[in-house]
Amino acid sequence: MAEEQMNFQAEVSRLLDIVAHSLYSEKEIFLRELISNAADACDRLRHAALTQSDLLGDDSAFRIRLKTDPAAKTLTIVDNGIGMNRQELIDNLGTIARSGTAAFVQQLENKQEGANLIGQFGVGFYSAFMVAARVEVATRRAGEAEGWLWSSDGRGAFTIAEDAEAPVRGTRIVLHLRDGEEEYLDPLRLRRIVATYSDHIAVPVVLESRKEDEPDETLNAASALWTRPKSEITEEQYKEFYHHVGHAFDDPWLRLHFKAEGVMEYTCLLFVPSQKPFDLFHPDRKPGVRLYVKRVFITEDCAELLPPYLRFLRGIVDTEDLPLNVSRELLQNNPRLAKIRSALCKKVLGELKQKAADAPEEYARFWETFGPVLKEGLYEDGRQRETLLELARFRSTTREGLVSLADYRAAMQPGQQAIYTISGDDPRTLARSPQIEGFAAKGVEVLLLSDPVDDFWLSAVPDYQGTPFRSVTRGGVDLDEIGDKDTKSEDGAENKADETPGLDSLIAFVKLTLKDQVKDVRVSARLTSSPVCLVADEGDLDMHLERLLKQQRQLDHTSQRILEVNPDHALVKALAAQVGKDGAGAVVEDAAWLLLDQARIIEGEPLPDPTAFSRRLSGLVERGLLAGS
Ligand code: ADP
Ligand code: MG
Repeated sequence: MAEEQMNFQAEVSRLLDIVAHSLYSEKEIFLRELISNAADACDRLRHAALTQSDLLGDDSAFRIRLKTDPAAKTLTIVDNGIGMNRQELIDNLGTIARSGTAAFVQQLENKQEGANLIGQFGVGFYSAFMVAARVEVATRRAGEAEGWLWSSDGRGAFTIAEDAEAPVRGTRIVLHLRDGEEEYLDPLRLRRIVATYSDHIAVPVVLESRKEDEPDETLNAASALWTRPKSEITEEQYKEFYHHVGHAFDDPWLRLHFKAEGVMEYTCLLFVPSQKPFDLFHPDRKPGVRLYVKRVFITEDCAELLPPYLRFLRGIVDTEDLPLNVSRELLQNNPRLAKIRSALCKKVLGELKQKAADAPEEYARFWETFGPVLKEGLYEDGRQRETLLELARFRSTTREGLVSLADYRAAMQPGQQAIYTISGDDPRTLARSPQIEGFAAKGVEVLLLSDPVDDFWLSAVPDYQGTPFRSVTRGGVDLDEIGDKDTKSEDGAENKADETPGLDSLIAFVKLTLKDQVKDVRVSARLTSSPVCLVADEGDLDMHLERLLKQQRQLDHTSQRILEVNPDHALVKALAAQVGKDGAGAVVEDAAWLLLDQARIIEGEPLPDPTAFSRRLSGLVERGLLAGS
């Protein structure tokens, strides 16, 4: 078959452009990436051979070989792993398979930003173009007859042709080094790079000798890292293992390496990243924890191993308790795996709890990064709910930084019966919400919830250790019970009503004016400085949750709200004084509509009739100006 030329997917071209122009200082990581891919290819073939032993032929010793040719200025990496067929070559080395990654690359505004991010999100295979002007990939998929040659200078296009010279099985990558990158031909340099980044790779990485009389040299320890005694593993080795297995590029924040013996026998080596993976909330994100059975890689994509709310974990679980030829079907609803899963959950959450106690500031940073994911467990995993509530941290109206629910309970005011919350899109806006004014005046702390997940767990979790959660934007509030009893009667809403003559008529008038636009109009106990606010009725959905559901098209109507009026506000008093007077009807009517629209705006709800709003507003200003002139 003749050579075919194809263009890279636009996102790949963009990525390659960034790679080629990057001044990224650690170019040497290209070798880590290629060795990591080669090791994965060996793992995948070893797994496939469990059910198809003929795939291995007479070559069952997996290895990765490095060759240098100073005359040709090439560095070659060869593996006898699973290899790729034509379509796999095109898909894997011509496109970005995961739409999450593609979307991320698209977002990179400029090369500078991309270049800075290379170290963080990784460009895998494409990093070869940091040091190579041309890359050739000769490969043959295990069990298939044809071999293929992929070749590219990393500028927009690649070619593919059939290649009889491709390895019998596996992949040979030839890097034609750019001028100035000759250091990667130096055995000393290669030895150091492999020792730094790839020592943990379980497959031998062999540097071929250039001289007849010198033997080849194995550059790594070539045993599965998690099977080695902890005392013999360095921090660097752990970190590089994390980079390999997690396709990650940051430093891990927390590490769990332990062996469980007893009913279930398994080893786990798990990491919590320090940085948020960019695809954490993307449906086709990369899976993070690999399943091994007796040191043999089984799958990278085992949904049964850990619950989704722990999806930020990276690492491996290696168990003795599953059969080697375990199938996908067998993994589903597997009682052994379920046991491992619940033990892992407990262990991980226990470790986080410890960290929260020992290093609260570090823990707070962790929570900022992964708290929104962990909170999913509050409604997904009833068994861990109490622990997750202990682990949760929140912003609040009365304190800087993050507070726990235990902190919150300890600071409750005398008479306070509930944990008060308000949810919305942004904590700073929330902190200015009219609905919390009365709470602030009484020194009652309100938790500011601004993660989309908050409304969902709040509707599933009734209380924390017997103290119920209550939204300050729903239902009535009884602030009278809270705090200083002496001031109680002065603060009572009913008493306030007596002090504002005409208030009852005003409320009746507003109700009549707004009709079915509101469920009710009533005197507020929660306002101190704003004239009005909206709240949801006791049995209705919280307003923010309702907006979220509407955005996600899970709901197509908006419930009627209750408009609460502040009887102490000068504007309300003035309107109350006007109501019923001759000729004041039109003004008070406009004011009623404007107050409702104003409350909607503060709440972040769309105005049903913006034209009417602006007409009334300009009318009001105009009347004010005319009256003043
Ligand atoms: P990642 O390793 O994160 O998937 P890479 O860019 O490093 O991303 O590699 C892209 C894909 O190309 C791999 O997922 C794999 O399917 C394929 N690949 C790369 N190198 C090899 C290799 N040596 N043998 C077989 N497949 C490979
Ligand atoms: Mg890779």
